[in-house]
Amino acid sequence: MGKEEKARLDPWGITEIEDYSRLYKDFGIKPFKQLLSKIPNPNMFMRRGIIFGHRDFEKIVEAMKNKEEFAVLSGIKPTGEFHLGTLMTAREIIYFQNQGAKTFYCVADIEAYEDNNIPFEKSEKIAVGNIADVLALGLDPKKAYIYMQSKEMRVRNFAMIFARKVTLATIKAIYGERNIGLYFSALIQAGDILLPQHEDFGGPKPTIIPVGVDQDPHLRFTRDLAQKFKRKFGFILPSSTYHKLIKGLDGSPKMSKRNPMSYFTLHEPPASIAKKISNAFTGGRPTVKEQRELGGIPEVCSVYAINMFHFIEDDKEVAKLYSDCKSGNIICGECKQKTIDIVLKFVKNLEEKRKKYIDKAREILQVE
Ligand code: SF4
Repeated sequence: MGKEEKARLDPWGITEIEDYSRLYKDFGIKPFKQLLSKIPNPNMFMRRGIIFGHRDFEKIVEAMKNKEEFAVLSGIKPTGEFHLGTLMTAREIIYFQNQGAKTFYCVADIEAYEDNNIPFEKSEKIAVGNIADVLALGLDPKKAYIYMQSKEMRVRNFAMIFARKVTLATIKAIYGERNIGLYFSALIQAGDILLPQHEDFGGPKPTIIPVGVDQDPHLRFTRDLAQKFKRKFGFILPSSTYHKLIKGLDGSPKMSKRNPMSYFTLHEPPASIAKKISNAFTGGRPTVKEQRELGGIPEVCSVYAINMFHFIEDDKEVAKLYSDCKSGNIICGECKQKTIDIVLKFVKNLEEKRKKYIDKAREILQVE
């Protein structure tokens, strides 16, 4: 595989990125670091460089600083239980809600159908658990608009209107050669992204879309449409932040359902989660003696990655893990066991909280 292909961002396929800084030049994504000191209350993804890029995030910084109106939209494709990828976007949306954003959370059931062949009835069932999860994680439903794509006519209407100004050549240039169903689902996503600016929700306003970088094609496509329909709807081009993609537990470039040992869901049996972490790819040395002498390599370690991305909240503790690993103060067996304990405590707590939100989730989604 050549370098050019590796830099390809594909929201529906496998995106492998070796060098994130290359995306600045290739796609015009701006480095996030320069904005960090200007953000009133940066979250841990921002502070740790996990969010590495953005488009037009300055508008959101201004809105946050001046306490002006802005919106956040994110969502989930209901293809299964929450995992560390969906946990990330859920935490990002909750962060922006806590910073005062009008909040929109979309269940992408049309995309689940077009991309994964999941029937709407099945999506509904999966979505109930997903929404209960996001509520259990802290999303305030009283201050959020949570909806299913297939039931939101404003999104479908936007998609239909936008379609008039999209040629096959344009959409192919962004997404490559795909079936029309996926192109249709891209138009629907554009409708989602601009929904917070619909007149029913108070019209144009800065809107932030926090996503994994593999979703950037949707942002480029929608920003182009927002520009084309600026005169008609007054749209403000949506802003975005991009987080890095977490590597698979087995050392593969990305956690993926195609490879069950590369990821775990937040609702699989504790023994299965523990087994996957025990078998995870690390930056350890072949022997304990060598590791004590040479130290480990946290930069390539999937156990370090899941701690850094999700399970250690205190920055100082992350720094300590890094230096303990580098100096050989800690070895992989002990480190994995600590990680298993933290993760299992987290999932147990989430499981208990989620049960309390199942009825609320049904009510929000209007599912029997
Ligand atoms: S000690 Fe921990 S962080 Fe370091 S390589 Fe081993 S598992 Fe990874």
